[in-house]
Amino acid sequence: MSSEDADLHAFHWLVDMVESVEVGLVVLDLDHRVQAWNGFMENHSGLTASRVHNRNLFDLFPELPKAWLVRKINTVATLNTRTFTSWEQRPWVFRFRNTRPVTGIEEYMFQNLTISPLNGTDGSVEKVCLTVYDVTDMASSKRALEQANEQLLRLSVTDRATGLFNRVAWENLLDAEYERYFRYGHHAAVALLDIDHFKTINDTHGHLRGDEVILKTAQTIREKLRQADRPGRFGGDEFGIILPETDAKGALCICERIRDSLAQFSLDAPSGAIQITVSIGVAVLTESAQNCQQWLKQADSALYQAKEAGRNQVVVYS
Ligand code: GH3
Ligand code: MG
Repeated sequence: MSSEDADLHAFHWLVDMVESVEVGLVVLDLDHRVQAWNGFMENHSGLTASRVHNRNLFDLFPELPKAWLVRKINTVATLNTRTFTSWEQRPWVFRFRNTRPVTGIEEYMFQNLTISPLNGTDGSVEKVCLTVYDVTDMASSKRALEQANEQLLRLSVTDRATGLFNRVAWENLLDAEYERYFRYGHHAAVALLDIDHFKTINDTHGHLRGDEVILKTAQTIREKLRQADRPGRFGGDEFGIILPETDAKGALCICERIRDSLAQFSLDAPSGAIQITVSIGVAVLTESAQNCQQWLKQADSALYQAKEAGRNQVVVYS
């Protein structure tokens, strides 16, 4: 074989390789006209190499992020360096349908992209090469993992039955609120709410009805609160509510609304209508609370007073 034949041979299999490699290869001249377009690009775009040859890339794909891509290409050409962008910055550059059987839930192919300078014999940048990697499998499993983690986190702070914060999460929030007061002087109040004679409700109407009463109470608390308020299930028939930026008057008003709404309501049951009343103790955060537990204790003592005074009422600690 002559050396010319050998060169031709090598060129042939090199082209074969470029054609069949499982990444997208696009060569553009500096006016963004397509000079090379491999099999991967043909398969996913549905456009053959001869169709796109010498055509402007942005005319062929009007949905490309033109300003962004041109800026990248210009930097590569000017600085004669490679650049890389990941699917995490931009899920895809070419909007190709996802064809992977395993990750068939994703509508589009996630892509990483490399842009490399191609130098002429004199060393100057003549063209750029875009390399498109299909990273759908990796991206999709990373997203699924993130979603699962978020869900786990949500579950770990939620009371299963009511959807409110569970006790541990709620106490952490209370701790944070206490810190905010001493660091930044943000005012806050805490309320403890306990259903009146809940044992009797359970005994008279059964445990299932009792659970419904707990649900109704949680739902009412949630409905009557503002966005920033934090309701939690303290355990059993007891609930805690953190009221940020709230003074005694404001806290009394919100708690009265909850108490009144429940008192107006009655739950139908075969054994007779169930009336729900609650007692609520409120403590506004002041210097007198040396720590978070003391603050909570003040609310608990107000709750005790409310029970002692005949229930179905709100008492503010003083
Ligand atoms: P008081 O007015 O003094 O609060 O009287 P009470 O009967 O409500 O007394 P207490 O708060 O001590 O009673 C709580 C009862 O709640 C005791 C327990 O059997 C019941 N309980 C705790 N958790 C649940 C639950 O998830 N579902 C039901 N149905 N009952 C529960
Ligand atoms: Mg009770």
